[in-house]
Amino acid sequence: MISCDVVIIGAGPSGSSAAAVLAEKGHKVILIERSRFPRYHVGESLLPFNSKILKRLGLLDKMRKSTFIKKNSVQFVDQEGVMSNPFYFNTRYPDDLAQTWQVERGEFDSMLMQTAKQNGALIMEETEVVSLTEENGEDIGFNCFEPKRKKILKLGPR
Ligand SMILES: Cc1cc2nc3c(=O)[nH]c(=O)nc-3n(C[C@H](O)[C@H](O)[C@H](O)COP(=O)(O)OP(=O)(O)OC[C@H]3O[C@@H](n4cnc5c(N)ncnc54)[C@H](O)[C@@H]3O)c2cc1C
Repeated sequence: MISCDVVIIGAGPSGSSAAAVLAEKGHKVILIERSRFPRYHVGESLLPFNSKILKRLGLLDKMRKSTFIKKNSVQFVDQEGVMSNPFYFNTRYPDDLAQTWQVERGEFDSMLMQTAKQNGALIMEETEVVSLTEENGEDIGFNCFEPKRKKILKLGPR
């Protein structure tokens, strides 16, 4: 059994952000991801309040210098194709929230995962959590499958 304080399943934005913050605070974190990054994912259009999370993760400057398309407003189209008025973020929010980005999720998620790694989380890609590990009728961890090595690993709290 590989032991740690926290096992996080999935290195999407939520898993990698949580791993980055917990590892930064000194916890032994294992972040398990079944695919290999960068991988395609839907969900490209960020909302302004993501900037607060990006700031917490120390990534706001990197995002500002990135080539991701800058997004200053949103406009909605209904089922009949009728467009709403544009919603300009700078008319509602302070300057630091007035702009966000349209990201390539492969690249964006890799950046978040790298932040978790830099903060000390152990990243296990191409590893899928497949079931809970039981001992004496108690769930004590996770069973993970590594298809490349055709191997089952056991992970759990120390
Ligand atoms: C069609 C569509 C359009 C969307 N558009 C937008 C948008 O424009 N803007 C926006 O903000 N949001 C959008 N979303 C929502 C956005 O995609 C999600 O909110 C976001 O991806 C959730 O992040 P997450 O980290 O929780 O999960 P995910 O990004 O789904 O990440 C989960 C990760 O866990 C891994 N995983 C899953 N199971 C296991 C396992 N058993 N073992 C190991 N790894 C595992 C997966 O491989 C994946 O990498 C959209 C969603 C859909 C479906």
